[in-house]
Amino acid sequence: MSTFNAPKGTYDLLPPDSAKFLAVREAIAAPLRNSGYGYVETPGFENVELFARGVGESTDIVTKEMYTLTTKGGDELALRPEGTASVLRAALEANLHKTGNLPVKLWYSGSYYRYERPQKGRYRHFSQVGAEAIGAEDPLLDAELIILADQAYRSLGLREFRILLNSLGDKECRPVYRTALQDFLRGLDLDEDTRRRVDINPLRVLDDKRPDVQKQLTGAPVLRDYLCDACKAYHEEVRELLTAAGVAFEDDVKLVRGLDYYTRTTFEFVHDGLGSQSAVGGGGRYDGLSEMIGGPALPSVGWALGVDRTVLALEAEGIELELPPTTEVFAVPLGEEARQVLFTTVTELRRAGVATDFAYGGKGLKNAMKSANRSGARYAIVAGERDLAEGVVQLKDLESGEQNPVPLAEVVTTLLEKRA
Ligand code: ATP
Ligand code: MG
Repeated sequence: MSTFNAPKGTYDLLPPDSAKFLAVREAIAAPLRNSGYGYVETPGFENVELFARGVGESTDIVTKEMYTLTTKGGDELALRPEGTASVLRAALEANLHKTGNLPVKLWYSGSYYRYERPQKGRYRHFSQVGAEAIGAEDPLLDAELIILADQAYRSLGLREFRILLNSLGDKECRPVYRTALQDFLRGLDLDEDTRRRVDINPLRVLDDKRPDVQKQLTGAPVLRDYLCDACKAYHEEVRELLTAAGVAFEDDVKLVRGLDYYTRTTFEFVHDGLGSQSAVGGGGRYDGLSEMIGGPALPSVGWALGVDRTVLALEAEGIELELPPTTEVFAVPLGEEARQVLFTTVTELRRAGVATDFAYGGKGLKNAMKSANRSGARYAIVAGERDLAEGVVQLKDLESGEQNPVPLAEVVTTLLEKRA
């Protein structure tokens, strides 16, 4: 204990669990790296206006969940609540879209902040890995991203996730649907906040999780019936590409998602073992976002997967990741001379790529062997005065208990052979 605890809605990542988080981030990133996506890193905060415009003034993220601050210099900033607006801002600022090489494909990994009511799977600080393909309208890209997320989850061993898919239409057909939906919603018994939402962003009402609202929504007009021919054809192609790739999905005509900027393809990955925080990731096409933040027309598509919830999903499925052992060899010196000699050996082993640790602090043999076992190492090298006088160290297999002297000069090669 200290005087302080982690702030509400946050938690610390500590060994050994932290290794799982790194492995999940890596597993999500691997298919992206392998598919032409370059790594992008943006600041943890941005001008608040970027999110107000880029995420949407009427969204929960902007109205309730943003951490905003005024700097001593008077700038209005916000901790980033999501990645897409920042990544697009960075790409535009660096003129990546002008190199004549579209789409610009980028991936990112980092911390995001939302002032939410903390509960399992919902935190105020969380981690996402995301991908964006900027500046091309091509159903192959929509399909590519969904296929890569599916590949990432599968590589982790996850099986109980589902892909929900919908089309939100474009600036041709969505306004027509919007009006029809508003007409329907205005006939319902809704609270004042929700009625205001009907005026500003009626599609978001479909996303309302409250059962009394959901009940009233049966019979609401669905966007699918209003899609223009271009949107219909586009969506049909995405669906066919996914099917051809063997990626199963479910059509979900009610899927709208929380951000304002989506057009056409929208999707969510849900995991059935997570209770109410079931969305592990989501994304879609955002053809209008660039213009909303003052850029040129740049049709784009992307997703963000939540690392925290993916780890919870692994736990829900009882999946133990096969992580490489953090320590392979543990050195146990007995006496001052052995400390010096074995420390040199440890350095050599590390330089040769063997994960090695040491019994620091002048521990006795019993305690040192306990540390060796706890480290998960397969081998211990133990040396005392008598061993060193004979030019050997004792190499102990911690699994079998077998122990043999090895010439000091051959320890590194012997261990490299054993682990091969
Ligand atoms: P939800 O509907 O659960 O609030 P969302 O639609 O707000 O999710 P997105 O903005 O699409 O989520 O973010 C993508 C992913 O990031 C989510 O699927 C989830 O895994 C993760 N995520 C979002 N908010 C949080 C949070 N507060 N805590 C933990 N993970 C989160
Ligand atoms: Mg949310």
